[in-house]
Amino acid sequence: MLTPESDSRKTPRDEEKCPRCEGPLYGYPEDRGAGSRVVAERHIVICSACGTDEAIRDSRGDAPVLPGEWPIAGGPRYQLPRP
Ligand SMILES: [Zn+2]
Repeated sequence: MLTPESDSRKTPRDEEKCPRCEGPLYGYPEDRGAGSRVVAERHIVICSACGTDEAIRDSRGDAPVLPGEWPIAGGPRYQLPRP
């Protein structure tokens, strides 16, 4: 297994973690993530998988997972399907 120090292709951007699931924030070089829809300004960047999860919850009428419930705030960690 490569460590970040030994892999010259890794950039600081690759190390960024999604505040909602603690997974990688960006899945590929052009990935811009998603603006969380649980805040009106949509200024909190989350990963695409979380963005999709929020969209599905919203369309189902399920309660959103608010930032205070995210792992970064001590909440549980969610397992999301990743491609
Ligand atoms: Zn995420």
